[in-house]
Amino acid sequence: MKRIGVLTSGGDAPGMNAAVRAVVRKAIFHDIEVFGIYQGYQGLMNGKIEKLELGSVGDIIHRGGTILQSARCDEFKTKAGQQQGIEQLRAHQIEGLVVIGGDGSYRGAKALTELGFPCIGIPGTIDNDIPGTDFTIGFDTAMNTVLDVIDKIRDTATSHERTFVIEVMGRGAGDLALWTGLAGGAETIIIPEEKFEMKDIVDRLKKGNERGKKHSIIIVAEGVMSGVEFASKVQAETNFETRASVLGHMQRGGSPTAADRVLASRFGARAVELLLDGKGGRAVGIKENHLIDYDIVEALTSEHQLNLKLYDLSKELSI
Ligand code: ADP
Repeated sequence: MKRIGVLTSGGDAPGMNAAVRAVVRKAIFHDIEVFGIYQGYQGLMNGKIEKLELGSVGDIIHRGGTILQSARCDEFKTKAGQQQGIEQLRAHQIEGLVVIGGDGSYRGAKALTELGFPCIGIPGTIDNDIPGTDFTIGFDTAMNTVLDVIDKIRDTATSHERTFVIEVMGRGAGDLALWTGLAGGAETIIIPEEKFEMKDIVDRLKKGNERGKKHSIIIVAEGVMSGVEFASKVQAETNFETRASVLGHMQRGGSPTAADRVLASRFGARAVELLLDGKGGRAVGIKENHLIDYDIVEALTSEHQLNLKLYDLSKELSI
């Protein structure tokens, strides 16, 4: 293999740049040329492809977002779209592709591999919802962003003796809500994976109030209910002054944490090694702190497992 490509696709995540940098530097280290494909699969179809040099990825390891930009492209879900992408790759004599993104992006990588073009998937999403890996790039940074907000809200919640509902990202997966709720000492964490009874939540809030608790923090994953709706339900049932904070897209931005930069660097380098070994249709991941790779189909057909032990622990610690 003499030439590879790299693209970022789907929702962006902090640390994607560090992964792009790792792919480029690792490849050049092995005398392989690297081409950046801009705007995901859309740019692939349109031939937005440029050669990347060592300097092209200088000064990006600390930057959020993705210098390659990202896009969503429905046309690429069709065979014709995928063929057009492969033609572009062949025209540039690119022989393998690294795709950094979430499960939608993985589907594209799988499709290309099945059409005879080897692709490797790197999990990049703040949702941490890719099956087969303990962590995805961007999750740690997003967690720290949310945690910073929880800590700040705690200050004002204490001063005013208020209940706060904080809505965090996570449509199908509650990882961000769970981990930040535990780290931020939230009283209640509401995630899509676990049913909840409003009555239990109200009882807990009332008990806390009786023993003199000055404030309460509830973390809600957006996939369960909007934070505003949840807050109005809580206020109606408790009569406690309740405020909602919806964090939104700020959770996707910011400079990646050390953990995300290291993870992205390891993933990027492993992806290049796999292509050099002539492998395609693999996803890289981390399990119990060991770097792994596995069939990308596995990432698309198995279910993401939330760490439910953390959920139980959060309940025990927030009595
Ligand atoms: P994410 O990668 O963050 O999950 P999306 O689900 O939006 O984001 O997917 C990103 C892009 O991947 C889509 O816009 C589309 O171009 C491509 N994609 C998604 N599903 C498929 C599919 N079944 N086949 C081919 N490409 C796909």
